[in-house]
Amino acid sequence: MLASRLRAGELVAVPTETVYGLAANALSSAACARIFRAKGRPVSDPLIVHIERLAQIEELAVVTPAVRKLADAFWPGPLTLVLPKRAIVPDIVTAGGSSVAIRMPSHPVFRRLLRLTGLPLAAPSANPFGYVSPTSAEHVRDNLGSRIRFILEGGPAYIGVESTIVDLREPRRPVLLRPGSISAVEIEQVLGCPVKIRSSAKRAIKGPHIAPGLLARHYSPATPVILHDSAVDMSVSRSDEAYVFVRKPAGKRSLNCHWFDSRGNLAGVARTLFATLRRLDRAGYRRLHIEKAPGVDGLAAAINDRLRRAAAR
Ligand code: AMP
Ligand code: MG
Repeated sequence: MLASRLRAGELVAVPTETVYGLAANALSSAACARIFRAKGRPVSDPLIVHIERLAQIEELAVVTPAVRKLADAFWPGPLTLVLPKRAIVPDIVTAGGSSVAIRMPSHPVFRRLLRLTGLPLAAPSANPFGYVSPTSAEHVRDNLGSRIRFILEGGPAYIGVESTIVDLREPRRPVLLRPGSISAVEIEQVLGCPVKIRSSAKRAIKGPHIAPGLLARHYSPATPVILHDSAVDMSVSRSDEAYVFVRKPAGKRSLNCHWFDSRGNLAGVARTLFATLRRLDRAGYRRLHIEKAPGVDGLAAAINDRLRRAAAR
C-alpha cells in the first residue's frame, strides 16, 4: 500500500538506521518537489537517493572500482557516496549539479519498502529544514504530522546520526563531506589512499551549495546551545539553564543536570543525541550547556559536527 503511494508520487516518512527520512520516487521531479515543500527546504540543497540492490546504482551513477570496494565493505549501511550522475536522475534531486549522492540503507523495514516499490527513493531527514533530525516516528509526527499523510513506524533509529558522506567523483581523491558513524580511517583502510577531510572552516567559506549538511547552522534547537570541551568547564550554576554531559556525572545532581549515555558510550550518545536536544528544547531552559564527545574520528567527529551546527547562530 505504501509502495503504491510512492509509485503514485506521494511522500512516505521512513525509518532508517541513521535518522527517519522523508521518501519520494527519486526518478520523479514532481514527487521530489513535494519533499522540498514539506520540509521548507531550499531547492539548492540536493537529496540522497536510496537503493536496495547494488544493480540499481548503474542506472543512476557512474560506478568505479572504488565504489565497489566501499559498497562491499559498508553497504547496506550508513555510508553515502557522491558520484557523477546519469541523465535519468532529475535535476531537482541534485540541485542542478552533475553529481548524485547514493546510499544503500540497512534498516529492514525501509529495505522492504524499497524492494516493494522497486524504485530508487530520494529521502532527506524527515524534519523541517534546519531543525533537529528525527530519530523516531513520534518526532516525525510532532514536526510534519500536518503536512504528510504516511509515516512508516520502524522503532527508534539505532545509529542516531546521519550517514557518512564521501565524495568519490575522483576515485583516487576521496573527500569526506559529512562525518558519520563510519570513520574516515575505516574508509582509508578500504580504499588504500588518504581521505581528505573538509573542515568546517572550509565549509563555511565555500557555502552550502554542494550539500545541505554543510550549512554552518543546522540540526538546531530553538534554545541557544553553548558547547564545552569537557565536563571540567561546566559548573552547574544556574537553575534556568540545562547542563548536558556525555556520561552520568558522579555524586549529587540537580534537576537541570542531564547526560546522553550513562557510561559515556559513544554509540549510546549518538543514539540519544537528537532525542535529548528535542526534549530539552521543550523544557523551557534559557540555554543548553553541552559537553562535546571525546575523540576526533568516527562517532565523536559525527556527534561534535552536529553539536557545532546546533550551537551555530
Ligand atoms: P538531509 O537531507 O539534510 O538529511 O541531508 C542530505 C545530505 O545529502 C546532505 O547533508 C548533503 O550533504 C548530501 N548530498 C546530497 N546530494 C549531494 C550531492 N550531489 N553532492 C554532495 N552532497 C550531497
Ligand atoms: Mg537533514
